[in-house]
Amino acid sequence: MKNIAVIGSGTMGNGIAHVFAQFDYKVSLIDINQNALEKALATIGKNLDRQVSKGLLSEADKSKALSNITTFTKTEDGVKNADLVVEAATENVNIKLDIFRELDKICPTHTILASNTSSISITKIGAVTSRPDKVIGMHFMNPVPVMKLIEVIRGYATSDEVTSQIMELSRKLEKVPVEVNDYPGFVANRILMPMINEAIYTLYESVAGVEEIDTVMKLGMAHPMGPLQLADFIGLDVCLSILRVLHDGFGNPKYAPCPLLVNMVEAGYKGAKTGEGFYKYTPGSKEVVVSSQFKK
Ligand code: NAD
Repeated sequence: MKNIAVIGSGTMGNGIAHVFAQFDYKVSLIDINQNALEKALATIGKNLDRQVSKGLLSEADKSKALSNITTFTKTEDGVKNADLVVEAATENVNIKLDIFRELDKICPTHTILASNTSSISITKIGAVTSRPDKVIGMHFMNPVPVMKLIEVIRGYATSDEVTSQIMELSRKLEKVPVEVNDYPGFVANRILMPMINEAIYTLYESVAGVEEIDTVMKLGMAHPMGPLQLADFIGLDVCLSILRVLHDGFGNPKYAPCPLLVNMVEAGYKGAKTGEGFYKYTPGSKEVVVSSQFKK
């Protein structure tokens, strides 16, 4: 595999493009939104700079990585030579099904179609294509250049051959792939999201404040980041979508999203990417303060 197309250049898409480009794959980064592409290139540049300043990459490696990335706003222009497409568009089932229907029509027959979805069924996505054996989940973790895990999700019809190709490719990116089966939330989010939802319920029921909840989980459970701050970094809209998939998929009320999370998303408080969630973020500053909505 040489040519990789990444669809969606938001939080995850820019990281996925960064990692493939760093390991010298040719990357087509595709987004319907030109601003998102520009922002993604700036973020990739900044993150490569950080790797250079830490001595992890040379200036020459950085320039090579950047030169490996080309951006597109039209999917068909970006995928025509792709050996692998990694879809990292908005976590919405209809958006993803439309993207995969189109990809199946316009990609070469050998192209493997992967989704970075956090929770949507790979089997369902595969079923709208004529190549469900070549549809697979490749679930990177945020921030992609730093986090080692890739959850590799086999849909009902994904072939052994495609699964082993993706496991091998993940190792070439110096990641650790873990193979899992396709059930709601897979492994990572089936375990993580109920914890985040419970943290939000704990806040909603005024058991404790934002900092108190995060401090308990950081110092008490040795988590590097508290669940509310982690939710802000994942994106509160993404958390809500995943909880809805778990709730619908298992039909179990224990996955019902906390009404506070629903309200925050509806009000546009989606976490770090919108500047405010449980905490407030100032662009260009590392300072993080509790959102005024939750100040006592
Ligand atoms: P995001 O909202 O930051 O970015 C999504 C991007 O997709 C946007 O730039 C949007 O313009 C673009 N997009 C929407 N429809 C498109 C289309 N039809 N064609 C091309 N581009 C399109 O979202 P994100 O947080 O990067 O999440 C992307 C995917 O990764 C989701 O499936 C999410 O569940 C998954 N994921 C997210 C995280 C996380 O921490 N945020 C972690 C693992 C997986």
